[in-house]
Amino acid sequence: MALDLLRLPTDSIVRPDKDRFLNEENPFEGMMSRFDRAAELLDLEPGIYKILRNPEKQLIVSVPVMMDNGDVEVFTGYRVLYNTSRGPAKGGIRFDMNVTLEEVKALAAWMTWKCAVVNLPFGGAKGGVICDPLSMSVGELERVTRRYTKGIISLLGPDTDVPAPDVNTNERVMAWLMDTYSMHVGRTENAVTTGKPVEMGGSLGRKEATGRGCMLVTKEALAHLGMDINGATVAVQGFGNVGSIAAKLMAQQGAKVVGISDRAGAFYNAKGIDVDAAIKHVQQHRSLEGFTGGDMIDAEDLLTLEVDVLVPAALENVITTKNAPRIRAKVICEGANGPTTAAADPILDEKGIFVIPDILANAGGVTVSYFEWVQDRMGYFWSEAIVNERLGDIMTRSFGDVLQLSKQHRVNMRTAAYMLSISRVATVHRLRGIYA
Ligand code: NAD
Repeated sequence: MALDLLRLPTDSIVRPDKDRFLNEENPFEGMMSRFDRAAELLDLEPGIYKILRNPEKQLIVSVPVMMDNGDVEVFTGYRVLYNTSRGPAKGGIRFDMNVTLEEVKALAAWMTWKCAVVNLPFGGAKGGVICDPLSMSVGELERVTRRYTKGIISLLGPDTDVPAPDVNTNERVMAWLMDTYSMHVGRTENAVTTGKPVEMGGSLGRKEATGRGCMLVTKEALAHLGMDINGATVAVQGFGNVGSIAAKLMAQQGAKVVGISDRAGAFYNAKGIDVDAAIKHVQQHRSLEGFTGGDMIDAEDLLTLEVDVLVPAALENVITTKNAPRIRAKVICEGANGPTTAAADPILDEKGIFVIPDILANAGGVTVSYFEWVQDRMGYFWSEAIVNERLGDIMTRSFGDVLQLSKQHRVNMRTAAYMLSISRVATVHRLRGIYA
């Protein structure tokens, strides 16, 4: 469908700052250009379009912290609630020097679509503090976490905004956040955050959930293409939580993982990498450096290996207009958030590559976060088998929903996933009306 024939006058509605971010790698622009395309195909009414293009709330806080040497440092923290029409805001907190408000906004919007695509009763949020956690002591990290939590506490709560770990934050940080919130409200409140240690209200299966979700949707995609995961060849970029678990579970299904990589380098073994041995190596050495289970190859070449499945599970913006023409995988399962730039999408389409988009492919993590929130609120905890079974139901059903829409509208899986999630959020806005 020619875009100029569509009714929605996006150019006149789009916020004026859109033009400042035409860079291929701007996260907000990357997300918004997909949003615009889906909104146009849905023929979304301009009022709802304007609502969904703007975050509900953006909070910027100064976070003063006494450092170990006695100096006071002041960090900047953000929390953005993008949309809460479907339920409490849900989204991670990252500690990183590259955190910007634009990025937090983009990630908060992504969370809104991700929760809607798998039909969780959550809205979307994201938070971050500009800091370098690797150069900080544990005590400094704890004080940053507690003071930032206090800074955004007016937003937090099991019914309003429920954070989770993200880049450079983990279950330890979530435990401090939960404790700080609980001290302020005067009771122990587990359900204020997810991704907690299992001993204090975390869910079994949460750690493996994102990689498990990737495996499940990849299996569905291969079946749709008339292929079997048993015997399929796989390359995985990033060997952290998502990448290593996805590789392990795919190998357990009979796939041959021929390529893996992390910050230290990329490794190839045509006979198949022993994934368990690679995980053990990383546990012992903190990275794949020195791994002997494959030949070292150029990191960029991992992405262009001739494989059935490519799993980018490391960073944003790794598949771009520069390398997309050389990608030879049949299926791309986006374990990372935003690994493909919007400009690379049409190149992959033209090559007939089946892309399972991030908002669907890596939604297993937030799905089990939802289970954690439910279990905390019930005070009744499920076995790992039940968690995995329910995760399987949601991921398989969601893949089917997106595939059906993509066939119906003759669009790729990414556009279909955005259409599904935007239409779900828009429906709730129509039903609720505009409060005035
Ligand atoms: P992680 O920190 O555990 O792992 C990241 C991995 O990427 C590490 O192995 C690191 O060495 C590797 N890496 C970094 N730079 C690289 C490079 N240039 N080339 C190759 N590898 C590189 O992080 P994670 O939790 O596995 O998250 C990975 C991605 O998945 C992120 O985009 C994250 O936002 C997304 N994600 C994670 C979850 C989750 O539950 N953990 C859920 C949804 C999405």
